[in-house]
Formats: sequence, structure tokens, C-alpha cells
Amino acid sequence: MNNPSKKQVDILIEHGFVIPVTGPDKIIVDGAVAIDQGKIVEVGTSSELAAKFEGKKQIDATGKVVMPGLVNGHCHFLQEFMKGAQDDLPLVEWIDKVSFPRIRVAVQDYFDGKPELQYYATLHGCIDSLKSGVTTVLNMEWATPLETIKVYEDTGIRAMHGLTITDNDKWTPPEAILPHDEYFALAEKLNERCKNSKDGRVVYWHAIACPNSNSTQMIKDVRDHANSHNIPIHIHLAETNFEFNNIQKLYGNTPTGYLKDIGLLGSDVSAAHSIWLTDDDIDLLKEYGVSVVHNPECNAKIASGVAPIAKMLNKGIAVGVGSDSVAVKDNHDLFQTMRVAAYLQRVHNLDSMAISSYQVLEMATLGGAKALKVGDKLGSLEPGKLADIILVDLKSSHMRPINNLINNIVYCATSDRVTDVIVNGKLVVENKKLLTVNEEEALAEAEEFAYKRYTAAGLNLPPYFCISKVGM
Ligand SMILES: [Zn+2]
Repeated sequence: MNNPSKKQVDILIEHGFVIPVTGPDKIIVDGAVAIDQGKIVEVGTSSELAAKFEGKKQIDATGKVVMPGLVNGHCHFLQEFMKGAQDDLPLVEWIDKVSFPRIRVAVQDYFDGKPELQYYATLHGCIDSLKSGVTTVLNMEWATPLETIKVYEDTGIRAMHGLTITDNDKWTPPEAILPHDEYFALAEKLNERCKNSKDGRVVYWHAIACPNSNSTQMIKDVRDHANSHNIPIHIHLAETNFEFNNIQKLYGNTPTGYLKDIGLLGSDVSAAHSIWLTDDDIDLLKEYGVSVVHNPECNAKIASGVAPIAKMLNKGIAVGVGSDSVAVKDNHDLFQTMRVAAYLQRVHNLDSMAISSYQVLEMATLGGAKALKVGDKLGSLEPGKLADIILVDLKSSHMRPINNLINNIVYCATSDRVTDVIVNGKLVVENKKLLTVNEEEALAEAEEFAYKRYTAAGLNLPPYFCISKVGM
């Protein structure tokens, strides 16, 4: 029965430990969040909100943390089928031996008008991300069929879709490069498609592969096109020592200094990795309002280096985190990413206070939203912000007892503790069940398609690749 003295809202979450990410000491025990028409209406104690609101859907968060959805600021879903594919190669060799053979197949399929491989890879990635508590993702892809955008709409995730742009065939196999004008024609189609996406949940980004793999002219053309079409720009920046040295050799400058000189840097740019930076480069990122997406596990596993994150945070640069490719990090568990980010900064700086647990929690939420230029709309639980929220179960041996809620979330949690996921005010995962698509059917179908397509292209995959088929 409706109670006329209370305002009806779509969802009322009650009795949780609310971490709004509005400050290191802000925790509401027995907290509540009211959600209506896709937005957060109010955050407070359960007794305060129960007196004012009645939820059409009531969620009891007893024993759970209620926090902003995680923001994955940099990943490549096309590589979703490569979990565990390689363990021991440096980046340049890894790209050549592991990554490009798969990319070639996808780009060939794009030219042949076959969208399935990219579609299924994105579907697999969206499912894993949502189940891991990721509510917003920047997915940087190669030549993308428009059908891919429907996956974001259907699964319920919020996405920034980046089209990878490269024109240097010394660095990229020529068959993976689109003709110059086709990049911009495809970008405009994707931009229009994303502008009309369901609930406005998908936004298009230009995504420059890296300074090495593009001519100066192409980078300038991307900047001009971004300006005229109001499109933000993502880029892999200063990921390797190789890139740093190569740009020095070619242009007599650091990668960051070179991009500044040719006019790319701006407040609409987010730079993944940003490892090989001088102090002057860090000052440039701050001066131009460039944000950074840190991918600590990917950087550690392929020994690219440690990004100077503590220094950047101290300068006031917006920093988020990303999983990058699951061919390297192997999952989309951003709780693990938070931990590794903290460990790397501490060991690199030989300083146990180099970065706090709250700072890494902020990087995975509000910092990520700021890095994707949507910090005013996402990333914290505040009235008026879009309702992207997750619930994390504390009732598990590896989470308890709780001595410090923030520390326990950052250092104890794993992504399988996420029980409920709300995106844009809609429940997408409830009690660990994905509501938007049939998870097992979709994963099996995607893996079976990938197995057939890759083996047909001559790639070797193990017989247990499709786990749903093993033993049947
Ligand atoms: Zn990447």
C-alpha cells in the first residue's frame, strides 16, 4: 500500500554501510540511498530516509557496503577471449605475437561486414564487468561494427566507446589499419549511434593508439576533428621505455612534450598508462587538464614500469584505474586493481604512506569518473548524480572482522563479493544474478563463436577453451 505521507521512489536501499566517496571519513552506518528516475535523490541514515521515502523496490543491504559503481577507465573487450593466453613476454613482443594475430581477424571481419566476433567479445566483457561491479567502462576497440553499441544497451552497462586510430604500418600491421578518411567516417557514424543510444548510456571517444603508431599529421587531424565534433580523446601515453626513447629519437622530445607541441593536449584528453613521464611532463598534464588512467596490474605483469601516480595525485591530476586488456591482467576485478595500485606506489617510492586506501578507492570511483570527464555526474553517492551503485557483501570469511571499512574494501574484497549492481537507476545484477541477459548462455555462445572463428583463421587454441563443452 502506498503511504501518502511518503514520496514514492523507484528504489530505496536501506540498512547498508554507505561509503559515498565524498571524503575519507564519510561513512554512514545503517545508511540508505533513495533513487528515482535514474538519479540519486538522497543519501542518509535508514531512519531519515524511511521517514521520507517509500521504494517501489526496497533493497535490504544489511551486512553490505553500498558504494558508487566502479569505473574502468581503460580496457579492450576485443581481447576478452585471451584470458590467460600469455605469461612471459614484454609489451612490444606481446603485441606482435599475441595481440595482433587476433586483431587482424577482427579487422578483416569488419571489412567483410561480419560483426559477430566484436559483438561477442564485447558481450563477454560487459557481462564480466557488470558481475565485477563495474558500472562504467571505457572500451577502446579496433574497427568497430555499429552492432557493438547494442551490446552496451542490452547488457545495461554505461560505456565510453573508443575507436582505436593508427596510421603507422611500421608499428601496426597494415591490414589492421583503416584508410585515413574511413577512420573519421566510421567515427562519425559511431558518434551518431552513441548519441542516440538507449538512456544516453554510450558516448563515443576518439582513441589514438599511441604517439609511436601515428603520424604527426594524423594526431593533428584527430585533434581538429575532436574540436569540430566535440568528441573527447583517449590515448595510450608513455606506456613503455621503448616509446619514450623512440619519440626522443624522432622528435627530440618526451612523448608528452611532443603531444603538447603538436597541439593534442587539452582538458578533453584522458591518457592511459602515463608511466614514462618527467617532472615537466607531469606539470604539462596538470597545466592542460589531461587526466590519467592507471593500469597497475597490466604495467606490472609485462614489466612496463610504475606510473608516478602519487606524484600526479599530489599535483591534483584526475587519476582513474583500468583493467586494460584481460590478455594481460586477465580479469576486470578492480578491487584487485586498487590493491595492486597501492602496493606498487608504496614499493616504488619505498614509502608506506605514498598513497592511502581511500585515495585508491577514489581512483576506482570518483577519480575514474573525473578521468572520463564525467565527475560532475558519476563516481560518488550524492543527490542529483546518476544512480550507478553497487552492493558489496561483507559476510564472508575473507572480509571479516571489519576494523576499518575502507581498508577492508580495498585490501580484502574481491569482485565476487559484489551482489547487486544498479546502473542509471536500474537494477542490472540482483543477488549475483545478471538480469539483462542469460549469463551462462551468452558466455557459452560467445566462446563457441570465438573458438570457431579463431581456429578457422589458423590460431591454436586449447581443447578446453570452451569450458561449457568440456566433459559434455
Ligand atoms: Zn590499452
